[in-house]
Amino acid sequence: MSNILNLKTPNACNWCPGCGNFGIWTAFKAAAEKENWNNTNTAIVAGIGCHGHINNFIELTSFEGLHGRAIPIASGIKMANNALNVVVFTGDGDCLAEGGNHFIHAARRNQDLTVILHDNAVYGLTTGQTSPRSPHGYKSKSTPMGNLDEPINPLSAALAAGATFVARAYSGDIPRLTELMIKASKHKGFAVLQILQPCVSFNKIYTHIFFQENTYHLDKKHDTTNKEMAFAKLQEWGEKHIPVGIFYENTTQPSYEEQLPQIKTAPLVSVGAQKRNINELLESYA
Ligand code: SF4
Repeated sequence: MSNILNLKTPNACNWCPGCGNFGIWTAFKAAAEKENWNNTNTAIVAGIGCHGHINNFIELTSFEGLHGRAIPIASGIKMANNALNVVVFTGDGDCLAEGGNHFIHAARRNQDLTVILHDNAVYGLTTGQTSPRSPHGYKSKSTPMGNLDEPINPLSAALAAGATFVARAYSGDIPRLTELMIKASKHKGFAVLQILQPCVSFNKIYTHIFFQENTYHLDKKHDTTNKEMAFAKLQEWGEKHIPVGIFYENTTQPSYEEQLPQIKTAPLVSVGAQKRNINELLESYA
């Protein structure tokens, strides 16, 4: 039986027809099949938002955290068992507003996590309020006169904080998205994959057509080891001018986990920590 069938759950998908989440889900299952991600080697964590439903549609060990708290939960899982491939699904609101602090500090530590950022530039689950990614002037029920804030650039922020793999994809380009998910997952360190994902119900600006007409692929002239070039490319956003692909990749910087002597030779779960009596441990602090 293929891994995709193994990953199937009995739950019916409840995203709106045409939602970009379908592309992300499909690409992730294709990546899982290619790489044989399963319950013995992979754990997934989601935050709160439409993206978070993905946990219900993939049969892998999963955890859905409080709003904005997917990254710290994933950090804990990785610390307990650093042999696992730990993937975080998070939305632009979840990751960049409620969870902004966690995002920056996990990047700074270069924790070995893959962050899949579902960026639809609205709060879709709560019916389309303005998010940290909504454009200036964006009108929604939370900003009826137009958004006064400028949108945050999540990849520039991640890169400035210390992320060592920074990439962007469009949810409708499933082959490239699959490939980038695999690369991000294989990267040893903090990998952020921003996925431009239409919310067909509430965001009438960032539609499938908008992304199909305005994205272009970074070519071989772009040096992914050059951080300054990455920052420059990340400033681009506009008509026919939204780059997708890998902006930056640093394979020489050790991850946070690689620097911890306690887990250097074996994951914490395999060295007896789980056998410790929790009451004795608590009493030792009394
Ligand atoms: Fe997708 Fe938007 Fe519908 Fe949520 S509200 S399922 S993000 S289309």
